[in-house]
Amino acid sequence: MILTQSVRCPYCGEFFESSLDVSSGSQEYFEDCYVCCRPIIFFTRVDHEGDLLSVEIRRDDD
Ligand SMILES: [Zn+2]
Repeated sequence: MILTQSVRCPYCGEFFESSLDVSSGSQEYFEDCYVCCRPIIFFTRVDHEGDLLSVEIRRDDD
């Protein structure tokens, strides 16, 4: 299942829509900002029913 989430880039501060795949459970992955193309780390937490609990966003250089 794919959810669309509005996220704020930690580098440039722009908002963009990201597609999150929640069907494989909690995960950590990179996605480039649609605006400035820098790599954002996404931490998604998904419960056992496939509901998205939280999305945490970090810079690669933190
Ligand atoms: Zn950006």
